[in-house]
Amino acid sequence: MVRYVYPFEEGDGKNKMLLGGKGANLAEMTQFGLNVPPGFTITTEACLAYLEHNRLPQGLLEEVHAAMREVERKSGKTFGSTSDPLLISVRSGSAMSMPGMMDTILNLGLNPETLQGLIAHTGNPRFGYDSWRRFIQLFGKIAMGVSDERFDEAMSAVKKRVGAEQDVDLSAEDLKALADDYLKIIKQETGEEFPLEPYTQLEYAIAAVFRSWMGKRAVDYRRQFKITKDMANGTAVNICTMVFGNMGNDSATGVGFTRNPATGENVTFGEYLVNAQGEDVVAGIRTPQPISRMAEEMPDLHRQLIELRDKLEAHYHEVQDFEFTIERGRLYALQTRNGKMNARAMVVTSVEMEKEGLITREQALLRVNPALLEQLMVPTLVTDGKIAALAQGLPASPGAASGKVVFDADTAEARGKTGEKLILVREETKPEDIHGFFAAQGILTSRGGKTSHAAVVARGMGKPCVSGCDAIHIDVRAKKAQIGAVTLSEGDVITIDGSSGKVYPGRIPTVEAEFFEELKTLLGWADEVARLKVFANADTPRDAERARRFGAKGVGLCRTERMFNDTARLPIVQEMILAETLGERQAALDRLLPIQRSDFIGIFNAMEGLPVTVRLLDPPIHEFLPTASQLEFEIEHLRGLKRALRNMHELPETLKMLDPELHKQYVDSLDNLEANLAEYQNENRFDGLIDRREAMLQKVRALTEVNPMLGHRGVRLGLTHPEIYAMQLRAIVEAAAQCMLDRVDIHVEVMIPQVCTSQELIRVKAQLDAELARIEKMRGLRPQIAFGSMIEVVRACMRAASLAETAEFFSFGTNDLTQATFSFSREDAENKFLPFYQENRILRENPFEVLDLKGVGRLMEMAVRWGRETRPNLKVGICGEQGGQPDSVRFCHAIGLNYVSCSAPRVPIARLAAAQAKLREAEYDPKILL
Ligand code: ADP
Ligand code: MG
Ligand code: MG
Repeated sequence: MVRYVYPFEEGDGKNKMLLGGKGANLAEMTQFGLNVPPGFTITTEACLAYLEHNRLPQGLLEEVHAAMREVERKSGKTFGSTSDPLLISVRSGSAMSMPGMMDTILNLGLNPETLQGLIAHTGNPRFGYDSWRRFIQLFGKIAMGVSDERFDEAMSAVKKRVGAEQDVDLSAEDLKALADDYLKIIKQETGEEFPLEPYTQLEYAIAAVFRSWMGKRAVDYRRQFKITKDMANGTAVNICTMVFGNMGNDSATGVGFTRNPATGENVTFGEYLVNAQGEDVVAGIRTPQPISRMAEEMPDLHRQLIELRDKLEAHYHEVQDFEFTIERGRLYALQTRNGKMNARAMVVTSVEMEKEGLITREQALLRVNPALLEQLMVPTLVTDGKIAALAQGLPASPGAASGKVVFDADTAEARGKTGEKLILVREETKPEDIHGFFAAQGILTSRGGKTSHAAVVARGMGKPCVSGCDAIHIDVRAKKAQIGAVTLSEGDVITIDGSSGKVYPGRIPTVEAEFFEELKTLLGWADEVARLKVFANADTPRDAERARRFGAKGVGLCRTERMFNDTARLPIVQEMILAETLGERQAALDRLLPIQRSDFIGIFNAMEGLPVTVRLLDPPIHEFLPTASQLEFEIEHLRGLKRALRNMHELPETLKMLDPELHKQYVDSLDNLEANLAEYQNENRFDGLIDRREAMLQKVRALTEVNPMLGHRGVRLGLTHPEIYAMQLRAIVEAAAQCMLDRVDIHVEVMIPQVCTSQELIRVKAQLDAELARIEKMRGLRPQIAFGSMIEVVRACMRAASLAETAEFFSFGTNDLTQATFSFSREDAENKFLPFYQENRILRENPFEVLDLKGVGRLMEMAVRWGRETRPNLKVGICGEQGGQPDSVRFCHAIGLNYVSCSAPRVPIARLAAAQAKLREAEYDPKILL
């Protein structure tokens, strides 16, 4: 026989699947000696059996009767007694907390006879009728399906009739009349009699709680929060002796947190209401008192409460969220569960509880979810949630910012110089918009996913970004955008929240992120435990400094192309690209050399003592030129202007001929204009502008590739145009030499992108060696520069053993490697079919956000193994977007990587994740790859 019923004295506090969270903790609290009213739990298995057969399973009621007799014995009261009746609550509770989703009935066991017994025994008619009307309402609603509104109306009517403000102002007589009204309502609504026999009531109530598991509210909640059957299956029912917070002014009910869930501060936090029952505190019918007030109002009870709190924490070693009731000066514990806290409170309590000796350092590290830390690294909105969003896009880079709308990067740069706060709004962004990113507080795009250019760059810079906000229609030329009925013009203020993806009208205040003491402490502990090092992706000295502040132990990816994109430099880069001869190209490169060199000096200085991995130019060069359609538009426009100018010159002549009077007016009024136009009389000026664009257009067309991601880029470009890498290598070597002369402790590494064969590495390595030899000859010193390969092409994984002969380190570029492994182009995938794939469970996760372990991960694992067969001390890292994602970090630890590199704001997340990976390494299942 299956057993369905467990008294609180016997239930297994660890078995939440069977007893539900509430039931398991009621059992546990009872067993370690807290004052819990007697009761028992009916298992979730009974619920599943009920839902399957649509009736209570056989034997259940017998078990319930037996358990009730035990409760009667412990409480000294009798269920259904007309002198001192036992009343009970019938409470739902599943393995996962689903606040307010299922139902609880209080004061069960009352009927007109037992009510008289209750009144006689307590000598308190008001209390008796109050309990009675509460029971009728809850039972009527939950077991008989009558809506709350009907009862609320009746309550309001009574209050109005007697001129009462609050329910506590109602007398026994009023409450008695109210209860009669409630019974009439139930009869009217259901056509049924209210069941009076206590065991019938109990049977109905149990079934009703079971049914609430499949109620619409509960089903929706589980879908919303992705609660699956293996997390919670069915609800348990907890039967608990009633204790009464509504017995007068020495009684109360309340909820508490053992520590403040918003700040983590070590003080009991919560609220209570005197002379109240059950949901009154949360229902907001009266304003509850803060628990701090209890110390003055009810000092003895406050002492009992603090004792309860201490016992809870000492037992659970975790912050608890608990419910209590005080009946005539005696405190009862009715529920407890682990407290849900915000990120700050989690960190603060972790550090404090460790220092108090309540938890170990390991536990302190393990109890904080690393992903939660993201909240702490970015500014957040201060809203009361009342301001309606204009639109919803994708949360592409966390943090919030307000500013004036600008529609292009040049305007952003120009206006930004005057210190204006700006939001760059574009359909999508391209590398040449980069100067607009620097100038803007945040970026909003109408197209593109969470790994679009805008998202990746914004994350790298730690700026908020909302992408793919397709409700916005942008007209760049008119400098306007339309969102539903709202039109935004350049200069209008909006606020974006890159953590939620929402876009708001106007300015909403934000609070800055701060690296507070407890966070530093916790992450310091994490670094001591972790084996995996955490580096940051940083392209500028400023990025590098920030990464260092966030605790990065190096720069794992410094993208030199980001340096090319600065507005001051882009024209030189374009000159280099447009050069007709090698001489012209070399001239442009010669101008870029000192710029790159000083960039590197800046970064090497900022990262003194730590490694910096510089990647040579990676993207296809047409990315540095305007698009063909942009150029065509400009050429068209210039030609139009040229025509207009010619017409203007011809106009007076034509007018003179056709209408001398009009001609005279025209000449008079346009005297001034003529003078201004004189400057533009020379049509050749237009021709010059047009010619330059046409030359560029030709080049752009020549450079057009069918598939640029698989085209002429990375080391392929480096080898066919060796002068580009030569310039970059020289800049790196000279910067390193300069730092050596300045006695800066540098650890420089050079990394080659898009490698697929060892010949590519061998040739670039020769270039590096030549530069090193040159500087040695010139300056008499030779910097130590490690040489390594990006691993982002499938063939590079397969040839890892051979590449490791030349490469001293590998760095997995998991964005490209994911594209290559799936043959998905990222933008197309995220815009077109990935959402469908995810919704339909064809793919569980977006592989560009969460590393695909079974495919991409498998390739990585092989590449690491094969690479180290050739070179046992091969250093291996990852520098893709996923490098800061906790599951990916765990995987990287498991396959023996040396470091992960991610954007600066994710560094703290990765540091904590790296420590957790180490602490949980024994639990790691290598079968995850299969
Ligand atoms: P929920 O899961 O929605 O919190 P509960 O089962 O905890 O529902 O009950 C709702 C309210 O009823 C709680 O505030 C609790 O304090 C109160 N309550 C439940 N059982 C009892 C009882 N035996 N005596 C007094 N109050 C109770
Ligand atoms: Mg509760
Ligand atoms: Mg790449």
